[in-house]
Amino acid sequence: MFGKGILKGLGVTAKEAVSPRLTEKYPEEKPQLPERWRGGTFALDKEACISCGLCAMSCPNKVIRQKFEKDENNKKICTEFVMERQYCLFCGLCVEACPKGCLHLTQEFETAVYASADVPQDLLADNNMEQPLSKYGAKPPLPKPAPKPVAPASTSAESQAKGGEA
Ligand code: SF4
Ligand code: SF4
Repeated sequence: MFGKGILKGLGVTAKEAVSPRLTEKYPEEKPQLPERWRGGTFALDKEACISCGLCAMSCPNKVIRQKFEKDENNKKICTEFVMERQYCLFCGLCVEACPKGCLHLTQEFETAVYASADVPQDLLADNNMEQPLSKYGAKPPLPKPAPKPVAPASTSAESQAKGGEA
């Protein structure tokens, strides 16, 4: 039949026009990333960091550049904390290794820069904590200790009965 192909094509167009939208209007609308997104930038809660260096030790690509000094109270403090993100695998091992839960991945994803020198992140100069954080590696709250079983208090009648038996 003449025009059968056109009618078939219009049918597909009409069906798609009323079906739910599957694509996102990026960049007009920001995409909803998974809450455990890995792949953007890092953030550091500087006050919580204990300068243990476990994050750098756990990194398979030696991405984390740290320097430590002792302060006047002989306490170890971090004087350099740079993430060389150009080498990062975004494996998340550093975040998992942090005993204080103070190193985070963020939900940032538009991380393109003009100069390669701008890729490393100096987390002491800018801790980046204002960014929405990824939940990857977030430490769950410690479980509450189970309440100790309390021995039932014996009634005065029971005590008297026991006394009488003795
Ligand atoms: S995400 Fe992986 S590769 Fe990147 S800094 Fe952390 S441990 Fe290193
Ligand atoms: S593992 Fe955590 S507490 Fe230790 S130096 Fe790294 S960010 Fe700081």
